[in-house]
Amino acid sequence: MIRVGIGYDSHRFAAGRPLILGGVSIPHPQGLIGHSDADAVAHAIADALLGAAGLGDIGQLYPDTDPAHRGADSMTILADVGARVRRAGWSIQNADVTVIAEAPKLAPHVPAMRSCLCKALAIDAAAIAVKGKTNEGMGFIGRGEGIAVIAVASLFAFG
Ligand code: MG
Repeated sequence: MIRVGIGYDSHRFAAGRPLILGGVSIPHPQGLIGHSDADAVAHAIADALLGAAGLGDIGQLYPDTDPAHRGADSMTILADVGARVRRAGWSIQNADVTVIAEAPKLAPHVPAMRSCLCKALAIDAAAIAVKGKTNEGMGFIGRGEGIAVIAVASLFAFG
């Protein structure tokens, strides 16, 4: 049996914050605001996995009202999501991620992001794809106010 899930996340840019995407700290004049480290790539993948497994979403499981998650390393959350999905009987087949940001250029950071993400999920690096896109100057992304991430993930189980 195969299941597919989709995840979406967006965060606003602010000065004085580190920019962390896919567990990688990326040099940029601004970072993303959030209760955790605002790693929108990790959050979108986590929601795709939880959605595929029918296990809810990260807002329910790791609420931003919980002080325990303040400044949380989203790689820890992603690893926990991977463990929950496996405990429910699923094996993670792949995740495919599109990051929509006007800047910075993500291509140089993709290998490091894939390596971090596959380590957190305990899957092969070939099973994770990360692509960067701009929004052609349009809307909040085009104005550099924030970024958005879309992810899909697939799961497999016998039976
Ligand atoms: Mg988020």
